[in-house]
Amino acid sequence: MYLYNSLTHKKELFQPNDPNLVKMYTCGPTVYHYAHIGNLRTYIMEDVLEKALRYTGYNVKRVMNITDVGHLASDADTGEDKMLKGAKRENKTVMQIAQYYTDAFFADCEKLNIKKPEVVEPATNCIAEYIEMVQRLLDNGKAYFAGGNVYFDTSKLGQYYVFNDHDEEDLAVGVREGVEEDTNKKNRNDFVLWFTKSKFEDQALKWDSPWGVGYPGWHIECSCISMKHLGEDLDIHCGGIDNAFPHHTNEIAQSESYLGHKWCNYWFHVHHLNTDGGKMSKSKGEFLTVSLLEQKGYDPMAYRLFCLQSHYRRNLVFSWENLDNAVTAYDKLIAKIAALSGNGEVDQQAFDALKERFVNALNGDLNTSVAVTAMYDVLKAKTNDATKLAALRDFDQVLCLNLIDAAEELRQKQKAEEEMSADPEIDALVAARTEAKKAKNFTEADRIRDELKARGIEIIDTPQGTKWRKV
Ligand code: AMP
Ligand code: ZN
Repeated sequence: MYLYNSLTHKKELFQPNDPNLVKMYTCGPTVYHYAHIGNLRTYIMEDVLEKALRYTGYNVKRVMNITDVGHLASDADTGEDKMLKGAKRENKTVMQIAQYYTDAFFADCEKLNIKKPEVVEPATNCIAEYIEMVQRLLDNGKAYFAGGNVYFDTSKLGQYYVFNDHDEEDLAVGVREGVEEDTNKKNRNDFVLWFTKSKFEDQALKWDSPWGVGYPGWHIECSCISMKHLGEDLDIHCGGIDNAFPHHTNEIAQSESYLGHKWCNYWFHVHHLNTDGGKMSKSKGEFLTVSLLEQKGYDPMAYRLFCLQSHYRRNLVFSWENLDNAVTAYDKLIAKIAALSGNGEVDQQAFDALKERFVNALNGDLNTSVAVTAMYDVLKAKTNDATKLAALRDFDQVLCLNLIDAAEELRQKQKAEEEMSADPEIDALVAARTEAKKAKNFTEADRIRDELKARGIEIIDTPQGTKWRKV
């Protein structure tokens, strides 16, 4: 599989350190609020990556953290802890908030067919690991203690900005708009490994440490949780593109300074879901959730298809119109699959040719929009229905659009409707009522309507004639 590696800025052949096991790490959610559908775009694409790797023959061990401490309002270590903010907003404890929104996150994932990683680790579980890493960084001179906090010293690195060739001035945390400069820092990009003092005093969760009672910085949790479960070498690290700097940049700085060798070979970044006003984000106040889409009558599968229709390295613009188009596409797709008979034997040669197109799409930097086209190609292919169904079932291991189940459900619904409208006795009563109405015999028409009602039949008068259904 060829994947774009943000670290080398090019597409590379993916080769895990151990050919038998891909070690994959995903930055998990900060559980202070519901995930918005932008966050979930990132998790959908990471899910497809994991499934594509499995589909093409790899074993994968995937680890995800749950950020329940240390992520401050600004990614640049300033402002209040997001968890505390959530707890105050809802008048609950931080741990109640963490539990509630962790559950809500996985419930959303389930609706979108996003598989839960093998290991899910809350950040608050790994305090001993953070302390150990921070201590080693202090011991080897890569970190320093100032103003009550432990900072990573970015001046000790040969190269700090690894992901982009942007102007350092643009990236520099200290000069970003709205971010106050921390005067304890020796260099403006230094970041906090362990806080004992911060601008807000009432941090809810604190632990004892060699540097005083405090709490870990956000970045260190991902380095430690990854190493705890996946060891010193990581094959692929995923996250949204906004995580590349400073979060992932800092993860690399501290991990490699701790280990003394390269840590992660491939960095997979998903670009943003945008609205008219720019990146969808929680800090802007209003954001869309999966539950909200459902309340408006949208099937989460239509949103998954919407995401798969575009490449993960392109910004995706959300609008209701765009989502409606995905709904239409999804409904048509399911209707076409429902119409397949399943008769005949699978033609292995035809199946392999269809599969080859699909695999090539995945292998070409996870090109899901081409993979979706490969799925439509199946429907158009000159082969029997059994082969088409077999190919679609096979592709859906990666796409996870409920293709087969949704088609079966539709078939059952259509069958039930046909059976109902094929009841000659009811048809005769409905026809008699229509005649009575025509003859202005409304007493008789009403009597028939009441009789049908008593039998659980509802009559619907439409411009195309009178229809009926069981209620
Ligand atoms: P958070 O819960 O804020 O830590 O974010 C969870 C994940 O969602 C991270 O990988 C972010 O990079 C990603 N993310 C945040 N905003 C967006 C967006 N608008 N579109 C896609 N991914 C996003
Ligand atoms: Zn992370």
